[in-house]
Amino acid sequence: MIDVVDLYKSFPMGGRELVVLNNINLHIKRGELIAIMGASGAGKSTLLQILGTLDRPTKGTVSFDGQNLFALTEQEQAEFRNKRVGFVFQFHHLLPEFSALENACLPAMIQKRDMADVVGEATKLLGEVGLADRLHHKPGELSGGEQQRVSVARALMQQPDLVLADEPTGNLDSHTGDALFTLLRQLNRSRGTTFVIVTHNDKLSSQADRIVSMQDGMIVSS
Ligand code: ATP
Ligand code: MG
Repeated sequence: MIDVVDLYKSFPMGGRELVVLNNINLHIKRGELIAIMGASGAGKSTLLQILGTLDRPTKGTVSFDGQNLFALTEQEQAEFRNKRVGFVFQFHHLLPEFSALENACLPAMIQKRDMADVVGEATKLLGEVGLADRLHHKPGELSGGEQQRVSVARALMQQPDLVLADEPTGNLDSHTGDALFTLLRQLNRSRGTTFVIVTHNDKLSSQADRIVSMQDGMIVSS
C-alpha cells in the first residue's frame, strides 16, 4: 500500500543541513500493524508526518497505492489526509467545549457530510472503543484513557485506509496504555485498517506485526 523509496529529510541549521531522515526505504502492506521504535530524536515523528503528507521530504518518494503523494497538489494532499488517513497523537487534541460525540463528528462535519450519517458512524465507533455510555461527556469529564479512545474513534471516522499514531499511549499509565494498544490491535483486525504506531514500549511493540527500528534517521532493522 505504501512505498517509501530513498527518502531524505533535512532541516537547514545555521548554514548547514541537519539530516533527520537518511535514506529511508520502507514497504507497508495493507492491513499491517507496524510499530516504529527508536531513541528520542531518531526521526520517528518526522517520518510519520511525511507519511501523512503533513510535511514534505527533501528527497525521495512516498507512494500510496502507486501514486506519489508529493506529486499531488496541496488540495489533493488535503483530500488524501481527510479521506484516507486518521491521526492519533500523544496528546489527544480534543476540543474541551465539545462532547465525545461532537469531537468524533467534527472532522466529518467539516466535510459537509450528511449529519445523521456522521452521528450514526461516530456513535457506532464510540461504542466499538467502549464509550457507548460516555457520548455526552466532555473531555474534562473523561479519564485520560477514555479521552484517548475518543481520539481513536475520531481517527477512524470515514474508514481511513491508514491510521498514523505518534506515541498514542505515551501519556497514559502502563495499564491504560496496554488497554489502548489492545484496542488498536482489535480495530486493526476487525476493520483491516493499516496502523503505523510510534511507541517506546517494548511490551506493546511485541504485539505488532512488525517492528521498524530507527537510529539517527536510518532504519536499522525491520
Ligand atoms: P521523540 O522520540 O523524542 O519524539 P523522534 O524520533 O520523534 O523523537 P523527531 O521529532 O522526528 O524525533 O525529530 C528528529 C530530529 O529532527 C530531532 O533531532 C529534531 O530536533 C529535528 N527536527 C524535527 N523537526 C524539526 C524542524 N522543524 N526543524 C529543525 N529540526 C527539526
Ligand atoms: Mg516523536
